[in-house]
Amino acid sequence: MTHFPPSLQDQVGTGTTNGRVLLIENSRFYAGMLASELRERLGVDVVVVASLTAARQALETHAATPFFLALTGLVLPDAGGDQITGLLIAHRVPTVVVTGVYDETARQRLAEQPIIDYVLKDAPGNIDYLVWLVRRIERNRSITALVVDDLAETRAQVADLLDLYGFRVRCAADAAAGLAALSEDASIRLIVVEHDLPGTDGIEFIRRARQAHARDMLSIVGTSAGGGPSLVARFLKQGANDFVRKPFSREEFFCRISQNVDNLELIGTLQDLATRDYLTGLPNRRHFFDQGTRALARTDAPMTVAMLDLDRFKQINDHYGHDAGDAALRAVAAAVAQHARAGDLVARFGGEEFCMLAAEQSSEAASASLEALRDAIAKLRIMYKQHTIRVTVSIGVCHRQDTDLHGMLTDADRLLYLAKARGRNRVVCESWLPA
Ligand code: GH3
Ligand code: MG
Ligand code: MG
Repeated sequence: MTHFPPSLQDQVGTGTTNGRVLLIENSRFYAGMLASELRERLGVDVVVVASLTAARQALETHAATPFFLALTGLVLPDAGGDQITGLLIAHRVPTVVVTGVYDETARQRLAEQPIIDYVLKDAPGNIDYLVWLVRRIERNRSITALVVDDLAETRAQVADLLDLYGFRVRCAADAAAGLAALSEDASIRLIVVEHDLPGTDGIEFIRRARQAHARDMLSIVGTSAGGGPSLVARFLKQGANDFVRKPFSREEFFCRISQNVDNLELIGTLQDLATRDYLTGLPNRRHFFDQGTRALARTDAPMTVAMLDLDRFKQINDHYGHDAGDAALRAVAAAVAQHARAGDLVARFGGEEFCMLAAEQSSEAASASLEALRDAIAKLRIMYKQHTIRVTVSIGVCHRQDTDLHGMLTDADRLLYLAKARGRNRVVCESWLPA
């Protein structure tokens, strides 16, 4: 089942995730406020403790599914800053220090330790920044980053930082190995590439990488210690999303990397807005036409096109209200999405109509499978407030070898109205080969 997309809600970040955060904080007021924001806005599990002893205990209790991040203050009743960060580093928990007082010496000492960030509690927007940061680290876990650098020391330094930010990390020592990794691993979304490589340099690497990977799908950040201002321009013109000069501060590196990955997600969200139906999260009609037309052009085999329309749906709106109608549409959309096999295409066609394109079936198998879908929808009990709503659908199906999606939909629609005329809650299937 591949076609039921995560709802838009999830993508803007109010959905649930499975990660767990450790919050070590002296002030109960601040801890309570931050924990509830993280739980409500990100759906993460937050374990709050107020001492080093309790932190140690929490790390042991959750050893099987470790914390992906710790947020910690530096002053506890039973310990000072170094002991706390020492404990977290020893347990390999990526750490963000959240402190009430700006202390330049403490900051410089922390800068030498593997810590993601140093955040001031009373800075304006502090909670929003932390929510953003936790979401960023949580999401990084599904992204692979590639480091291309021939010097073992700087390669390890960059890889360690990216690892600290939660990314899965791969490394390559030259451009050829980097390009090979990129072509075999589709989960790579971020590349940090050094300019001074043996043989093919960083700029040429980017030019080649861009031939198959657009800027909105893969973020590339160039690095170099030398080269002057023209080097930055050359990097950007060849398709780098950003450039960080070496040596960089860890704070700068974290901000740059995060911004670049944020941008990729933002573009992804905009693309989703263009291709998805807002109410149900299903692909929209335009996306169905785009993808469906391509799918028909790719094959000589017969394909199945189905149009599905809710029966007497207006009565549901009239009887229970428009919001209840929306809930019913979402429930039917979920059933349609669940029914689809990998490779099938489903969409909300408009209003209370859905459509589907499926391959590799005989016409008998196609009509039997849609009959099962019809039956599953008729069995749904849609709970809305105190009501239990039931719906049925009529389905028109056409099955043939054709490249004209529009024509197939028109025929499926004609068969759908035949299903309505014959009493609704039924499937009418017609199979023929074009003359
Ligand atoms: P039939 O069995 O002949 O299809 O009857 P019907 O009532 O389903 O058909 P009709 O086309 O008369 O009504 C469709 C209704 O679907 C009318 C419209 O208000 C409703 N509708 C369309 N889009 C939405 C939506 O997004 N939300 C809700 N709640 N209702 C919608
Ligand atoms: Mg209709
Ligand atoms: Mg209808």
